[in-house]
Amino acid sequence: MSKITVIVPCYNEEPTLHFFYEEMERVAAQMTENTFEYLFVDDGSKDGTMQVIRELRAKDERVKYVSFSRNFGKEAAIYAGLTHAAGDYVAIMDADLQDPPALLPEMYRAVAKEGYDSAATRRVTRKGEPPIRSFFARRFYALMNRISDVELMDGARDYRLMNRKYVDALLSMGEYNRFSKGLFGWVGFRIKWIEFENVERVAGETKWSFWKLFKYSLDGIVAFSSTPLYISSILGASMCGVAAVAILFIIVRQLLFGGSAYGWPSMVCIIILIGGLQLLCLGILGLYLSKAYLEVKHRPIYIAREAETDKPTEKAAQ
Ligand code: UDP
Ligand code: MG
Repeated sequence: MSKITVIVPCYNEEPTLHFFYEEMERVAAQMTENTFEYLFVDDGSKDGTMQVIRELRAKDERVKYVSFSRNFGKEAAIYAGLTHAAGDYVAIMDADLQDPPALLPEMYRAVAKEGYDSAATRRVTRKGEPPIRSFFARRFYALMNRISDVELMDGARDYRLMNRKYVDALLSMGEYNRFSKGLFGWVGFRIKWIEFENVERVAGETKWSFWKLFKYSLDGIVAFSSTPLYISSILGASMCGVAAVAILFIIVRQLLFGGSAYGWPSMVCIIILIGGLQLLCLGILGLYLSKAYLEVKHRPIYIAREAETDKPTEKAAQ
């Protein structure tokens, strides 16, 4: 009998947790070779999420939890889940049933029997999602794949089942700025992709505003690509080249023909353009610097207020 830990990051998921538990139990009952552990990570929810988790724990001792002292974000919740998972296999699943538990038997088969280290899922449709969000998501994946070495699959979810080796590899990367979609690809190993149609949230509403997603995508780029830094250096170098040619041209024209004191408006345009480019490049530099700054501070990725798990770690004691 091998044990599967199911990590469920929860932020204000009071209305969905019962649906999740029932559906998960239905699937677990079919998987007779496995025992289960449900590890809910309460990411500083403000609603009754913790009460629901406690109720579930009271009637089912396979329910474990970690509760954060505030909202640290889904990435921190995933990390906390991975550190506390006691199972031989570990799955990460959203609480809103957008990651169908029904795929779990197939994922388990891939990892336990077919020699893969991780079974990952991607949705091939984005039905039910606002078109503008889908559009920007697609652009983001296309851009990321061009400017970064890690491969990002369009529509990839955080929904995965992995073996111990894979989990330990993820945990060995203790960086503060975590972009799991990139980390999953970076660690390598053999991965089987399983595709499914998009499912809509069972209850409650999405926690990701457009702005939050925008920041998330910038984090992804900064964490896994240095291309913006190169672009700003190349931009600076080519600007210098253009300026050198222009200076030569003006000197020669002055010497040959004299009197070139016109062109004030064009001068202002050039100054604004170059000033703008400088600020842009400084901004890009600042973005990387701020991430490096956070990294060297070695802050904990999350702080737990309380935890009931089978694998208490030193980090949890903080
Ligand atoms: N989540 C979290 N912390 C956050 C935001 C979200 O733990 O700060 C969890 C949330 O409870 C859910 C999962 O991450 O289980 C995915 O969130 P959501 O369904 O809102 O995102 P979407 O599916 O719309 O991308
Ligand atoms: Mg969702």
